Parts: sequence; C-alpha cells; structure tokens
Amino acid sequence: MPQTALNTVAELIYWSYANLAMAHDGINRGIPTYDRTSFMIRSRLYNGLLTGKYQIGTLFDDERWKMENGARCVYCGAKELLSVDHLFPRFKGGEDDPENLICCCKSCNSSKREKDLMQWHKERGQFPSVMVLRRFLKLVYKYCQTQGIMEQPWREVDDSAFPFKLSEIPVDYPKCSEMRLM
Ligand SMILES: [Zn+2]
Repeated sequence: MPQTALNTVAELIYWSYANLAMAHDGINRGIPTYDRTSFMIRSRLYNGLLTGKYQIGTLFDDERWKMENGARCVYCGAKELLSVDHLFPRFKGGEDDPENLICCCKSCNSSKREKDLMQWHKERGQFPSVMVLRRFLKLVYKYCQTQGIMEQPWREVDDSAFPFKLSEIPVDYPKCSEMRLM
C-alpha cells in the first residue's frame, strides 16, 4: 500500500507497525524476501489494529532479549563506551521514561544528538533495527493517542512541535534480508 492510501494518523501508524511485524517474522524465518505468509501476517495485524482486535504490543519481548544478550548500542551494536539516549529528543519533550531511554554508544549518541530518529538513520543510509523501530512506533502511538489525533488525516496535523515527523514514519520497509533484529 502506498503512503497516499493511508489517510488517518491511526492508519499510518498501524500500517507501519504491521510492516514491522512482517519484517520481524521474515527475519525469524530467514527468508530472503517477503512471501504469502508475510503478507497475511501484515494484513491480519493491520486490520486487527484498525478494528481494535489487536493492540500495539508491550516491550516484553524486547526487554527479555536485552537481558539475554547483554547491553549493546541499539544503533550500531557496539558493546563498549555505552551511554543512554532519548529516542524522543529531550528538548522536544522526550521524557526520562524507561520506554524512551535506549542504550547506545557514545559515538552514535553524539552523532544523533537532537535529530529525529528516522532522519538520522536516513542521513547514515541505514534503516533502524526492528527493536528500535518497535520502541519508536510505540512511543509515536502513545503520543498521538494522548494528543487525541488518531482519527485525524495525518497530512493536516501540525507536527512541528512533535518529537518526530509523521511524514518520516516508514511505510515502505526494506526486504527482510536487509533488516536486522537488533
Ligand atoms: Zn553505536
């Protein structure tokens, strides 16, 4: 589905989240490109989110993964010189909330600074990992719910003061072989 077919904020976020779940499944199964099962997973989740049958998930799996694999930079995988970064930049209202805090290396931290997560990855010619994107989309979802804008056409929302850009929410995902879990 092209971005133009997505009208409301809810549709935009749910579509991105459903694509993320499809990518996650593809990585788990080790397939090179998305297959019929992938597209079924995506459409079932997207429609389930729209109708309220499914909800954006908790970060339980991510937290478990972190415990099992130890601390490392969520952006580049480095295991040394780690520090803490705010996914939603602090100066844009990002809080010292566990969901907004991720572990990253000093080099990534100083390069990202106050930049939007998606814009920063774009500059580096990268796509965020599944773990980072899931956390990010969850924050976006909660933020838009709090703002009461889920049913508004996303192109008409003034997001200039938001800690993210609605137009940067990914709707076209790379092949699963080009994505990484962490
Ligand atoms: Zn790093």
